[in-house]
Amino acid sequence: MHYDTIVIGAGSMGMAAGYFLSKSGQKTLLLDAFDPPHSNGSHHGDTRIIRHAYGEGEQYVELALYAQELWEELEKQSGESLFLQTGVLNVGPKHSDFIQNIISSANRYDLSLDVLNSEGVSQRWKGIKIPNDYIGCFEPASGVLKCETCISTYKKLAVENGAHLAMNQRVSSVELSENEVMVKTPNSTYYANSLIITVGAWSSDLLSSIGINLPLQPTRKTFSWFQTDENLYNDTTFPAFSFVTTNGTYYGFPSIDGAGLKVGRHDGGEPVHPSESMKPFGDGDQEDVSTFLETYMTASDHTLTYGKTCMYTMTPDEDFIIDVHPNYSNVAIAAGFSGHGFKFSSAVGHMLSELITNGETNQNISPFSLKRFIKGD
Ligand SMILES: Cc1cc2nc3c(=O)[nH]c(=O)nc-3n(C[C@H](O)[C@H](O)[C@H](O)COP(=O)(O)OP(=O)(O)OC[C@H]3O[C@@H](n4cnc5c(N)ncnc54)[C@H](O)[C@@H]3O)c2cc1C
Repeated sequence: MHYDTIVIGAGSMGMAAGYFLSKSGQKTLLLDAFDPPHSNGSHHGDTRIIRHAYGEGEQYVELALYAQELWEELEKQSGESLFLQTGVLNVGPKHSDFIQNIISSANRYDLSLDVLNSEGVSQRWKGIKIPNDYIGCFEPASGVLKCETCISTYKKLAVENGAHLAMNQRVSSVELSENEVMVKTPNSTYYANSLIITVGAWSSDLLSSIGINLPLQPTRKTFSWFQTDENLYNDTTFPAFSFVTTNGTYYGFPSIDGAGLKVGRHDGGEPVHPSESMKPFGDGDQEDVSTFLETYMTASDHTLTYGKTCMYTMTPDEDFIIDVHPNYSNVAIAAGFSGHGFKFSSAVGHMLSELITNGETNQNISPFSLKRFIKGD
């Protein structure tokens, strides 16, 4: 059971890494505690937004464009439909950092962006009303990724490339040395030259067992689907959206194939431990999104059809961690995707595979360094 590289955690980031490793000819093992895609971590719920002009900061723009390229490449290679170009409408107070970052990153990278005042927004989308001091920034080239299909497509192609899968096996311990790693599950022991650790909300415990203590906070999040006016909100007329408001940050998706308008709140959420059972979607979970819909969407009736829970893994600065182990260059880590990582998972998977096979990546990962949290180590 000796591999070139073992990937622990074959979810959003890990499955993409396994695909690129296996494509480059590495003998690859993908290990997961469940059988991705699954609904126990951070990657379920049908859809994820991909935006390019990035409100969280310009350091993400090149990565988002690179990820988009890789998603399109994956679509071509697999014949699967993974990306819906619905466009993404970003809304917020004109002078907010989020809106200003979007405008400046669109200018700097020459991205197509329609900047509309409140009246312009309501004229273009009859289903939306926003206050006069808010503006809308519409990115026509962005849209929606079908998240579970993205993961199952990478999985299928990784297996075709010769990757081995060991699903429903939770890694219990890891031992590192410069030339070899040993990975144990309750029933097996595996060896490899290199290791990638991408265990999402479970990162703190596994990483601290190899000397990396990070301030990561898994957080319970919910999202809900609402039955509403299909003429106003279906995906041929309505975009995906992200709203920064004085009462929280919300995001949502048009009704795709009649599934209903999907809405979630990005900020806040209850701290959780991923190994403990999480309170299911229920009483109180729909209140803030219902108020959001009543305030900003014009349809007279939005009826909750169902909701789900999911986990974010927050870093203190909400930026990612993508790096190699400070003492073992054969171990790469990606964690702390803070509720906005899925869109980048194609690019992150590629970068992780480059870090392992070439010892470096062409992308700038300095903003995602471990050092900002483990100074002096
Ligand atoms: C409600 C919600 C909405 C979101 N919306 C967006 C969005 O619109 N756009 C966007 O870009 N991002 C969005 N995100 C964020 C994005 O989905 C996450 O950042 C991303 O999925 C994190 O990927 P990951 O690989 O770190 O975790 P995961 O995909 O959860 O993968 C981690 C894997 O590790 C496995 N694992 C854990 N411990 C072990 C172990 N000990 N042994 C073996 N395997 C293990 C797990 O089973 C899991 O499969 C959203 C997230 C949520 C929850």
